[in-house]
This record gives sequence, C-alpha cells and structure tokens, in this order.
Amino acid sequence: MTEDEILQRNLELAVALPTGWQALYRQLIHDVAEVDGTATVVQAKEKFGEMRVYLKAYSEPAFALTDAATARSRTLCQTCAEPAVLSRTTDGFYATVCSQHSEGFEPANFSPMRHVRVLIPKPDDDVENNASW
Ligand SMILES: [Zn+2]
Repeated sequence: MTEDEILQRNLELAVALPTGWQALYRQLIHDVAEVDGTATVVQAKEKFGEMRVYLKAYSEPAFALTDAATARSRTLCQTCAEPAVLSRTTDGFYATVCSQHSEGFEPANFSPMRHVRVLIPKPDDDVENNASW
C-alpha cells in the first residue's frame, strides 16, 4: 500500500469511534502520517471511556502520538467533544461525558485502565541494530 492508501484506510477506521472523538481521531491520523507514513491502524475503538488506537507495528513517534490522543480523549465528551470527565454508571460502565451527556453517570475517581506496552521481538529481529528498543 502507498502512504496515501494507508492514510485513507486509517481514516476509515474512525467509523468505530463515538461521534465526539471523530475530529480527535482524524487529527491523530494526520499527525501520525507526518511522523511515520507507514504506520497502520489495526483497530480504533472506545474502551473504558477512552479512545484506544492500536497500531500494526512498533513505531515510537506514532505510539507517542496515539498515547497523547488517548489521554486527550479522557477530557473530551465522546458524544459532543465538549470538555468532559471520565465517568461511570453504578454498574461499572465507563464513558467520558460532559455535564449535558452524563445522565446516569457519576464522575469516576480513577480510570480502570492501566497501559502496558510489551514488545515481543520476532526471532529474526537483529537486536544489536535495534538498541533503542
Ligand atoms: Zn457532551
């Protein structure tokens, strides 16, 4: 695939995201394309009230951007993109919602998510040439 095709395909995955995060996701994809034109999104979705974007391959600059966008998603209403807080229902459903879209929700004291990124080298990876990993 060319970098233009990758960009278009990455943008198409926005359909899986809530309306309020569409612009955030599109900006992320354009920013990622600037730093790594081959970075391919395999999945974009809402999970525990935040935007998660999964990339196909290791890319430090792309990961830095997706992490920042995920953090930003925790401050934007997933319905309307207004300032919002991570919230939850009494039965444990999480969403990031503004005061207008928070019916049934209470602000969550902490995120249930803990982010860990594990890189599993493939047998043919040359570790010596990838010292920054
Ligand atoms: Zn809202």
